[in-house]
Amino acid sequence: MADARAGSSGAPAAGDVVVLLVAGSGRSGSTLLASALGQLPGAFCAGELRFLWQRGVVEDHRCGCGDPFSRCPVWTAVLADVRRAHPELDPAGLAERLRRRMRARRLPRLLARRALGLPPVPPSPDDAVLAELYAAIARTTGCRVVVDPSKLPLYGLLLQQLPGVDLRVVHLVRDPRATAWSWRRRKPTGDRAGAGALMPRPGLVRSSVLWVLWNVVAALAWPPAPGAPAGATPLPRPPGRASSTRRPAVRVRYEDLVADPAGALRAAAGVAGLPAEHLPLRGGGGAPVEAVLAPTHTVAGNPDRHRSGPVVLREDDEWRRAMPRRARALVGALTAPGRLVLRTRGDRTAPAAAVRSAAAADGAAS
Ligand SMILES: [Zn+2]
Repeated sequence: MADARAGSSGAPAAGDVVVLLVAGSGRSGSTLLASALGQLPGAFCAGELRFLWQRGVVEDHRCGCGDPFSRCPVWTAVLADVRRAHPELDPAGLAERLRRRMRARRLPRLLARRALGLPPVPPSPDDAVLAELYAAIARTTGCRVVVDPSKLPLYGLLLQQLPGVDLRVVHLVRDPRATAWSWRRRKPTGDRAGAGALMPRPGLVRSSVLWVLWNVVAALAWPPAPGAPAGATPLPRPPGRASSTRRPAVRVRYEDLVADPAGALRAAAGVAGLPAEHLPLRGGGGAPVEAVLAPTHTVAGNPDRHRSGPVVLREDDEWRRAMPRRARALVGALTAPGRLVLRTRGDRTAPAAAVRSAAAADGAAS
């Protein structure tokens, strides 16, 4: 495999890049969670990097800062760095190959490879470019933790086998009836100035199936294990068995994120060793809690990534009032097997519990 550390400048070296993946299904609040985490010292929220090649480099969508991708100073510098290491880079080809590697139909094969102790995603020459991307982001921004709300667990499985990437995972879970209702809304992407493209609007059945698929894979791949709590040093990778190494991971519920933002953010920050004393929150004590967000350089994702300033944290619970009973029952029935798996795979991750286990581990380590 090509050397992924062939970057052009100094520290931090590629081996130092911590990637904090927000995993789970769509419309779970990942944009808010990732944006808030990206405000912490040492963290950079990059947006959904699995779409960088197509939506950023090829289609020149707007960055979270408002500039087109090609004019954003951060991404211009990052891409120049990647191209110096990989002058042969073909963004459109890479985007298409990555899309094919992430198809849901490949899932059984990927899980079989993982069970055999092989890297789940068959390695490709593109992997050196992807590794270099994360290293270049760290070098350009000076941040050791790259927050990536790509959500797709298959992409997370690929990330954890990249050279020089130290993957940590926040598995964000939201009530599937809420996500199904949210998907039905008409929501402009905001990705291109003046263009009226809408976010995809999958139906109830499709969004339920996706909810089960992505949440179950995330729960199986990264169970919130007591042995790998927040702030833990990752275990060494046995040669050739990188995929079997347990990764520091925490599970956070959207409903907890809005009810107790400080607790949820502390748990999520802790899994990547980020300083939780600098949470970008204000209010509380009877007043609404707000996240105070500086503009981000997010490359793709929910249009909420373009919002900055104070954002009131309250549950988006429209579905409780507006979602027809039959629709709720349908989503509830379709997602029942997935919810059962989550319960049996460590659904004990209220933020307070995660923080307690982190504190216990810190105590044990010192
Ligand atoms: Zn930007």
